[in-house]
Amino acid sequence: PAARGRRRPGRPQVVVVSGPTAVGKGTVVAALQRAHPEIVVSRSATTRPPRPGERDGVEYDFVDDDEFDRLVASGGLLEWAVVHNSHRYGTPRRMVEEAVAEGRTVVLEIDMQGARQVRESYPRAEHIFLAPPSWAELVRRLVGRGTETPEQQERRLRTARTELASAGEFDAVVVNDTVEHAVESLVELLGL
Ligand code: 5GP
Repeated sequence: PAARGRRRPGRPQVVVVSGPTAVGKGTVVAALQRAHPEIVVSRSATTRPPRPGERDGVEYDFVDDDEFDRLVASGGLLEWAVVHNSHRYGTPRRMVEEAVAEGRTVVLEIDMQGARQVRESYPRAEHIFLAPPSWAELVRRLVGRGTETPEQQERRLRTARTELASAGEFDAVVVNDTVEHAVESLVELLGL
């Protein structure tokens, strides 16, 4: 499988999956959970408005700025960040703590600013970078998705450049050439 990285003994409990815009993080993580229903996939809170078809409490908890402020103030978020210079996204602390207490593997699909914060709370978390097969393919996936304006696409691609340059901070890199390959690599890396 298209994975490289160092391996640590034991099954990691907290798994961070990060990677550039439109690389297919959501699709891959959803497929991983279908194959391994015992894992928990954390659901983030965000101030971003829902895209067509997205439902509150499913893809995200969609909250307004005041509600997000309250979550931050009460310490309810394990990490949070402003992503693509626009909206705030954060991981509810309780969801992760409960999964860990139950001895389950919990997957966080978050950006790289958040990934760095998770390292502070969970130093043993496994950090996986999902990479596109090529830059051209990444652009194709983003444009093909058609959910962002050209201006938003440009901003996301600027972030993606920086993110790709930081892939070395991660424990492992998985290339999302096909969803099946990426899931296979993750299963192997995580010992599922
Ligand atoms: P999207 O708007 O496309 O759903 O997500 C944009 C970016 O926000 C993605 O890179 C995604 O990984 C990131 N993201 C989603 N949830 C969280 C979160 O809880 N924390 C952080 N730091 N980033 C998140």
